[in-house]
Amino acid sequence: MALVVQKYGGTSVGTVQKIKNVAKRVAKSREAGNDVVVVISAMAGETDRLINMAKQISEMPDDREMDLLLSSGERVSSALLAIALKAGGYPARAFTGRQAGFITNGVHTKARIKKIEAQKIHEALREGEIVVVAGFQGIDELSHDVTTLGRGGSDTTAVALAAALKADVCEIYTDVEGVYTADPRIVPHAKKLDLICFEEMMEMASAGAKVLQVRSVEIGMKYGIPIHVRSTFTEKEGTMVVPFSQEMEAVVVSGVTHDKNQAKITVMGVPDRPGVAKALFMPIADAAINVDMIIQNVSQDGLTDISFTIARTDLPKAIEVAKGVMSALGAKGFTTNADIAKVSIVGVGMRSHPGVASKMFETLANEGINILMISTSEIKVSCIIESKYTELAVRALHDAFVKQGEESEESQ
Ligand code: ASP
Ligand code: MG
Repeated sequence: MALVVQKYGGTSVGTVQKIKNVAKRVAKSREAGNDVVVVISAMAGETDRLINMAKQISEMPDDREMDLLLSSGERVSSALLAIALKAGGYPARAFTGRQAGFITNGVHTKARIKKIEAQKIHEALREGEIVVVAGFQGIDELSHDVTTLGRGGSDTTAVALAAALKADVCEIYTDVEGVYTADPRIVPHAKKLDLICFEEMMEMASAGAKVLQVRSVEIGMKYGIPIHVRSTFTEKEGTMVVPFSQEMEAVVVSGVTHDKNQAKITVMGVPDRPGVAKALFMPIADAAINVDMIIQNVSQDGLTDISFTIARTDLPKAIEVAKGVMSALGAKGFTTNADIAKVSIVGVGMRSHPGVASKMFETLANEGINILMISTSEIKVSCIIESKYTELAVRALHDAFVKQGEESEESQ
């Protein structure tokens, strides 16, 4: 008997009818002889609806209360799924994050899982029940306040649970058939990948592919949990996220991703002396704001500019922090730009193929797209561009790297 963890995203449980359909799909896996643990997202649009309500009351609602508010979405859908399973004659039990044993740190709205005390889940499984867990939430180990794991956090709930329970596979059910070479809404001929390695998936997720939360891929890689990303609405095999194997290096670029949730802050006229970057970025980190790219210009007359990018959703918080450190930094002031996007190309093959970055710059230049910032890793090149060029850039890069990659493979 295998132990399967299945996660269903918001669009898979968006209506009562869809929840009934998910119950059938879960029951089928049960009938096939598996132990089944299901992690569920809030019904489609619910998390946004809750956020909007809070924003109508306060521009910067308190994070602790936001977590309590947002965790309700997953409670509703998990209870409804357990009710649907029971109505179909399948013993089932729904758990909140806390009941399932998810202990996290205290960083509200972006908490990290510290441990999972899964006794109750084991108990329910031993009693032959299907376990349903509300995704995206836990409790702070110290205060016992409800925490959430950040947008898309149910993926992380699922993979972490699969690791804790030593599950055979973690299936992520969503509204697309797997991981694509680019967003099919922008590139209609984008292809579904059958296989992708953890490293690539991690870069793609952090570069904006929304199909999996980055943290979930990190955990999958660390604990060797194969992740199967597939559609709730078909029986087709999706994309398997697996450990790296040598053949994967033949493909230079596996995917093109984009991220519009980006904003740039430029701090101007900063004195060029030791401790300045620390004085700026320590308070940013203390506010739990993730910084992505950083550029410091060559100084002139002892003064320099520092630009950095963050998630656009963190911009109001970052502006508060920046205002607070301006005088301590002795800076002239700062500007912000929220009309930017990040486009990236990702592939383990880059390690062994030179000239990839320059070809990316050439491709963007040919479309008349100006590059505002650049960052690279061993297997990724990212460029910040004006947001309005995102679609054009993604199409051009897909044509230049992915399409051509296929043709040259065929002609070999
Ligand atoms: N409901 C949360 C969100 O929309 C978590 C999730 O769906 O994974 O981000
Ligand atoms: Mg998701």
